[in-house]
Amino acid sequence: MTIQKTSVIGFPRIGKNRELKFASEKFFKGELSEAELQKVAAEIRRYGWEKQKAAGISYIPSNDFSFYDNVLDTAFLLNVIPKRYQNLGLSELETYFAASHGYQGEKGDVKALPMKKWFNTNYHYIVPEIDDATDLKLTGKKPVEEFNEAKALGFETVPTVIGAYTFLRLARYNGQKKAEDFVTAAVSAYAKLASELAAAGAKWISFAEPALVFDVNAEEKRLFKSIYKTLLSKIRTESGVQIALQTYFGDIRDVYQDVIDLGFDGIGLDFVEGSKSLELLKTGFPKDTLLFAGVVNGKNIWRADYAQKKAILSEIERIVDASNVVVSTSCSLLHVPYTVAAEQKLSADVLKHFAFAEEKLTELSEIARADAAAFEKNQVLFASTRVQENASVQKELSSLTSSDFERKPNRLERREIQKNEFKLPAFPTTTIGSFPQTADVRANRAAFRKGEISREQYEEFNQKKIAECIQQQEEIGLDVIVHGEFERNDMVEYFGSKMDGYVFTQNAWVQSYGTRCVKPPIVWGDVSRSAPITVEWSVFAQKQTKKPVKGMLTGPVTILNWSFPREDVSLKTQAEQIALAIRDEVLDLEKNGIRIIQIDEAALREKLPLRKSDWHKEYLDWAIPAFRLVHAKVKPETQIHTHMCYSEFGDIVKDIDNMDADVITFEASRSNLKLLDALNEAKFETQVGPGVYDIHSPRVPSVEEIVEALHRIIDKLPKQNIWVNPDCGLKTRGVTETTASLKNLVAAAKVLRTN
Ligand code: GLN
Ligand code: ZN
Repeated sequence: MTIQKTSVIGFPRIGKNRELKFASEKFFKGELSEAELQKVAAEIRRYGWEKQKAAGISYIPSNDFSFYDNVLDTAFLLNVIPKRYQNLGLSELETYFAASHGYQGEKGDVKALPMKKWFNTNYHYIVPEIDDATDLKLTGKKPVEEFNEAKALGFETVPTVIGAYTFLRLARYNGQKKAEDFVTAAVSAYAKLASELAAAGAKWISFAEPALVFDVNAEEKRLFKSIYKTLLSKIRTESGVQIALQTYFGDIRDVYQDVIDLGFDGIGLDFVEGSKSLELLKTGFPKDTLLFAGVVNGKNIWRADYAQKKAILSEIERIVDASNVVVSTSCSLLHVPYTVAAEQKLSADVLKHFAFAEEKLTELSEIARADAAAFEKNQVLFASTRVQENASVQKELSSLTSSDFERKPNRLERREIQKNEFKLPAFPTTTIGSFPQTADVRANRAAFRKGEISREQYEEFNQKKIAECIQQQEEIGLDVIVHGEFERNDMVEYFGSKMDGYVFTQNAWVQSYGTRCVKPPIVWGDVSRSAPITVEWSVFAQKQTKKPVKGMLTGPVTILNWSFPREDVSLKTQAEQIALAIRDEVLDLEKNGIRIIQIDEAALREKLPLRKSDWHKEYLDWAIPAFRLVHAKVKPETQIHTHMCYSEFGDIVKDIDNMDADVITFEASRSNLKLLDALNEAKFETQVGPGVYDIHSPRVPSVEEIVEALHRIIDKLPKQNIWVNPDCGLKTRGVTETTASLKNLVAAAKVLRTN
């Protein structure tokens, strides 16, 4: 018998044409009312539900929408809202936005909550903050409201909520109390929510518990069990609504048996990234329980290989009765763009290999129904060769030796040489690279892209911008100058577009955080560089100033991690190919007089396996060497910088030091410089600029605040190793706040120098 039933964990929510982003940004500027913003959001939700219904999806989620982030939604649902935001006296939505990206205005001045990478994706969530006074209880209405909204439109949905375990596991505890102390409150809150949803007519509720795919230790296991034992029995007596436990981004090897024993009505497992899911299933699965089988990859953009999916499903059906199997996505479709149909520039031969969110809906239903015609078509697609190999790239790769990965002399010797070379003051100041991408900058790029202006006009404009930017930096008094990155839309897409082996979409946006979306390029074949990419801009910039200008590149690991990778060759091979291309660029910059080169690895941590035991063998053992490959050949006096952001680095600082850069700047201001302890403990050798203010927010840090941050830094790290910089690129910021902030930054560095 065929399976028939299908489900989706979550659907994209930024709008097919990023409507939510544009509307939210207008709302922030006061150009759109809250009611108008709500209308845009409602239309986005309706669109998603309608698409899913039209594709015949059996279990359609609701509450997967978010104005900024689902974890923050859950915090607001549960009254986990720090007082400093509540005290502003703003509307609920404005309070929510204050927590997500800070507030500076008539009513006060507060920083945003910290933001962190969501598991192994390029999505970022807001970290809830819990202290001893936190009164965790159900106060929010979002899941019920969105369920009702769907119902009124004729869609039956499964409300999906981040589960209590994952929520408590991801929260930060600022007081004495720990997760265990909030179990009783959380259980009451979730049970009450279940009752309210049941009363509204929900038949199923899905609790998303991706944190179960991390390594789960004994204490965490106890936490998980203590939550669900009581919660499930409470729900059973209070409302009887069916509960599905949804996991994704890996397998749940540490708690599989416990999950089974708890008696959920449905269990969602990931058969794409969960390398042990099938093995676990074979140890037994309860009768009369639905298995949401995540077989359609929710993260990639490639068509599913139906034969392969069918093979997995056949294995599954040997254990679970087909009538209890639901063909599902492996994770939320939030991580892929809306639809291939929005792509007009790529050829049909390329596009036929892609499946974005809407196409994946069709795949789910074709696989579930075992649609013979669709299977046949799919087989034809997978039987053909997609790309030709690039022989010269392959040859270069195979002739690499250990010396290609080893920079000489060692870092401490280089430090002395570079001290002499640059003669920078103590606490040198710099920025991360980009300057505000104002409307004119974007308009210039767009006009060039559309062919409305000539290359000369385009370049002339950018040169004018660079010259202005450099003059501005000199006036501000920064020591190491950048050109401003006006020619770049995105740090990865830009490089992808200049290298062979990539293809580009027009509209394939995915949410990175809040209103920030990215359009990852697609690794299509072997990657190589045929001509210099950034050299002209950097050389032009260096001509404008006597101070050193940093060349600005994106590193191979980040380029790969922010691209949609191929699946026919390993990530390691793809990273090495990109590394060779960027190495050519590094050497060309050096040859043309650029003496400081920053190679950003913002996304280094992105593909770090979620389980510690896999970190080295599956990832770091090729990712760190790929970075070294890029810069190992430069002269001793050339200073190599790198930059990282958005994640915890505390546990990989040794590996970061091993990248052998001369200087690294970190995003650290939002996470309260916790990183410093880890750097201190590891006797971190690389010179370091832990960001002294948060650029994701428009608020201007005061000199005192930055001085204070610097004091915290020098308490922990050797003074002579410290650089002073913002925590990330300034491209999303406005000009006024940027100038003001950087002036304060330079003033703060000067305070430190005179002390
Ligand atoms: N150099 C890049 C910039 O300044 C780095 C961006 C990033 O780290 N996300 O924009
Ligand atoms: Zn950054």
